[in-house]
Amino acid sequence: MDFKVFEFQGGVHPDDKKGLSKNSKIDDIEASGIVRFPLSQHIGAPSKSLVKEGDEVLVGQMIAEAGGFVSAPVHSSVSGRVRKIDKFVAAPFGIHAPMIEIENDGKYKEIDFSEHPNYLDLDPKELLGMIQNAGIVGMGGATFPTHVKLSPPKDFKIDTFITNGVECELYLTADYRLMLEHPDKIIEGAKIVMKILGVSEAIIAIEGNKPDCIEKISRMTEGQPVKVIELPVKYPQGGEKQLIKAMTNREVPSGGLPMNVGCVVQNAGTVAAIYDAVRFGRPLIERVTTISGEAIKKPKNFRVRLGTLASLLIEQCGGYKTSAKKIIFGGPMTGFAQYTLDIPVTKGTSGILALPPDKVKPTDYSPCISCGSCVRACPASLVPSKMSILLERRLFEEADKNDVLDCIECGSCSYVCPAHRPLVQMFKFGKAKAMELRKAKQQPK
Ligand code: SF4
Ligand code: SF4
Repeated sequence: MDFKVFEFQGGVHPDDKKGLSKNSKIDDIEASGIVRFPLSQHIGAPSKSLVKEGDEVLVGQMIAEAGGFVSAPVHSSVSGRVRKIDKFVAAPFGIHAPMIEIENDGKYKEIDFSEHPNYLDLDPKELLGMIQNAGIVGMGGATFPTHVKLSPPKDFKIDTFITNGVECELYLTADYRLMLEHPDKIIEGAKIVMKILGVSEAIIAIEGNKPDCIEKISRMTEGQPVKVIELPVKYPQGGEKQLIKAMTNREVPSGGLPMNVGCVVQNAGTVAAIYDAVRFGRPLIERVTTISGEAIKKPKNFRVRLGTLASLLIEQCGGYKTSAKKIIFGGPMTGFAQYTLDIPVTKGTSGILALPPDKVKPTDYSPCISCGSCVRACPASLVPSKMSILLERRLFEEADKNDVLDCIECGSCSYVCPAHRPLVQMFKFGKAKAMELRKAKQQPK
C-alpha cells in the first residue's frame, strides 16, 4: 500500500500532558469489594438483567443480555453474589441509572472460556457472533456496539479498515501502553476484523508522539497486510472523520457514517478486546484505563475489571497530592466532570483525571468578542460562536439549521476561546435538544 497522509482543517496543539503517566506500565489490580455494572454502558438499547438479587455469579458469566441488535450484553468481571439491582450514580452523565451490584468474593472463579487457537480459519459470521456475544463496544469512549459497526449493509462496499491508535485526548496513555506492551493483540485483532469485512489490507494509525509504538508495530508487521501509518500531532487527529480524511482524503458527509465512504474505524483497545474474545473466548470484562492529572500522587495505567469503583483506582495511585478541584471521566477535551468517586469503570472509561484548582478553567465566562478563534479551530467547519449565541437564546431549531448535530464534541473551540465560553457543553446540550425536536416532528399528529 502506498499511503499519503492528508491534513484535516482546524484543530489545535495543546500540551498533551501524557508525560505524567506514559512510563507507567499496565498494572493489574484487584477489583473493588463492591462492583457495579450499568445496564446502559453502550449506545443503543439498554441491556436486560438475567440475574436477581441473591444469585451467585462467576467471572465471565453473562449477567445482562442485549436489549436489541444495537445493544450489547454485560458480563460479570468477578465471582460473588448479586446484592442489588437498583439505580446508582453512573458515569459519564452523573445521573442515576439502573445497575447490577455484585459483592466480590475475591476468588475470581471463572466460567469455562472456549479457546480458538486457529481463529483466522473461522467463518466471518462466526467471528462476528463471538464479538457480539462478548459485549464489545467502542472502547475509545464512543461505546457504539462493535458488531453493528462490523455489519455494514450489503450495498456499502468497505475497502479500508483503520485501527485508531491515535489517542489524541490529553493525559490519556491507556492505548499507548496497550500498543507498546501488547502489539500482538492489536495486529491479530486487526486481521480478525479484516476477515469479517473482507478487506485485504488494513491500517494502524498512530500519532507521531508515540515513536516507540510506531517502530515496534512497524517492525512486527513487515511483509504483512497490516500497515502502520504515522500521523502528524494535532488535536483531534483521532476523531473518526478527521482520521478518515487524513488516511483516505475522503469526507464523511454531514449526518453520514464512515461506511458511507467505504471505511470502518475501530479504536486500538477495541481491536485488542476483539482478539481476546475470539482467541481466548473472553468477553469484555476488563480494560486498560489511565488515572492521571496533576492532583494525583502517582499517575498510572491499570488493567481494571469493569465495575470497579473509581475511588479504589485513585487510592491505588496513592491518593491526591494536592486538592482535586475537578474529577473527569475521559479526558479534559471530551470527558465529563463528576461529583462523586462512587462511580464504576465501564466499557468506555478510557481514563479518570483529577485536576487541581490551577488547571481548571474559570466557570464564569463573557460574551463572544467575535475573535474568530473557534471558527479557525473547528475541525468540522462549523461556526461555534454563532451556534453558541443561538443556544444561549434557546433557539434549538436555528442551531440545528446551523449544523450543531455535526459537532463531534472535540472541545477545540472551548480550548481556544478567550472569553472562556463553555462552547462544547452548550453543543452537547444543543445536540440533545435538536434531536428531541427532530423526533417530535416525526411523531404522527
Ligand atoms: S463546534 Fe464541535 S466540532 Fe467544532 S470545535 Fe467545537 S466541539 Fe469541536
Ligand atoms: S473563540 Fe469565543 S470569543 Fe472568539 S468568536 Fe469564538 S466564541 Fe466568540
